Amino acid sequence: MLFPSLADELKDLEAAGLRRHRRVLESPQGARIVVDGREYLSFCSNDYLGLANHPALIAAAQSAAARYGVGVGASHLVNGHSVLHHELEVALAAFTGLPSALFFSTGYMANLGIVTALAGRDDEIFADKLNHASLNDAALLSRARFTRYPHLDLVVLEKRLAASRSKRKLVVTDAVFSMDGDIAPVPELLALCERHDALLVLDDAHGFGVLGDKGRGVLEHFGLLSRCLPPHSSPLTPHLIYMATLGKAAGVFGAFVAGPVELTDYLVQRARSYIYTTATPPLLSAALAASLKLIDEETWRRERLRELIASLRQSLKLQRWRLMDSTTPIQPVIIGSNQEALAVSEVLRERGIWVPAIRPPTVPKGEARLRISLSAAHTIEDVAHLAAALNELESAA
Ligand code: PMP
Repeated sequence: MLFPSLADELKDLEAAGLRRHRRVLESPQGARIVVDGREYLSFCSNDYLGLANHPALIAAAQSAAARYGVGVGASHLVNGHSVLHHELEVALAAFTGLPSALFFSTGYMANLGIVTALAGRDDEIFADKLNHASLNDAALLSRARFTRYPHLDLVVLEKRLAASRSKRKLVVTDAVFSMDGDIAPVPELLALCERHDALLVLDDAHGFGVLGDKGRGVLEHFGLLSRCLPPHSSPLTPHLIYMATLGKAAGVFGAFVAGPVELTDYLVQRARSYIYTTATPPLLSAALAASLKLIDEETWRRERLRELIASLRQSLKLQRWRLMDSTTPIQPVIIGSNQEALAVSEVLRERGIWVPAIRPPTVPKGEARLRISLSAAHTIEDVAHLAAALNELESAA
């Protein structure tokens, strides 16, 4: 009997502190959220710039809905490719300074589409051990040889690249690691890929909008944009594929890949998660176009984030728990055991502060943690309140 065995498995998950629960959010995303009628100070969302509930984005979505309706009812290659999708792709290419951009429904689907279009049975994919699940799933689906290297260990990666006899080699990595908040050494990775004629697929889900003075993401952070950019006479580095998501700092939904026109044209032909799915509601593209403008113009949002990050790191005085070494809005506190991480998250919730406990398999065993994410919507006082609560809970534990 299937269902009783599923129920047993659920009980085991519960007993191990690994069962995950959804909560029903009754408010927009923001520094304060409402769940079960109660307001909480929230440190759970990836709405890093505080744009998810911005009036300009809402107005753009509303007027697009009034003009174009709420659904396109077809995939991009049938007749679902709206003028608003088209305009967003043009805006994304201009924003990143890369020649061409292709808009995907989600980051998960973009990673599946990119990796399976570019790698097959004769190829090999090299992946950082801490990559996002979507990159791992993409590698498995591609049927390419799948080689994972220890987190950020470029010595091991180089050995494996050198030993590989596969036809095409793809190195895939998060640019900012989603559960640790650290940044991949992109210049070194790129140099390695150039030496070994491998493609570097960068997933900048958590860097886009946040890193770099202009929010262009990890390439701007490392001063690499000029290597990928026009003037069109200078060749693009042919080894880099840039991907980012639009449901985090951009505050809406979706993802894109940017690079040479040949790449985006090819993906339109071959990326199955682009081809075989209904195009997203065009109103999302309208909201995203408004978001790109704010990411560009409102630099204070990134400045505020930097102040909040510094303030949190200065105020936390932890002895037994460990604040990870991160300069991004993802500030994890390692607690260790699943049950203790859950218990701390629960006590914080009772005090009106929402911080998620992240447990295996999302993070390695024994490294359950609180994943604090900061947003430009927070104030210095919000962060001070969280730090005081954590300092007190740790000393009482
Ligand atoms: N890549 C990374 C690094 C992510 O953190 C996420 C989202 N958690 C994704 C991809 C998937 O993006 P989306 O939520 O748009 O599917």
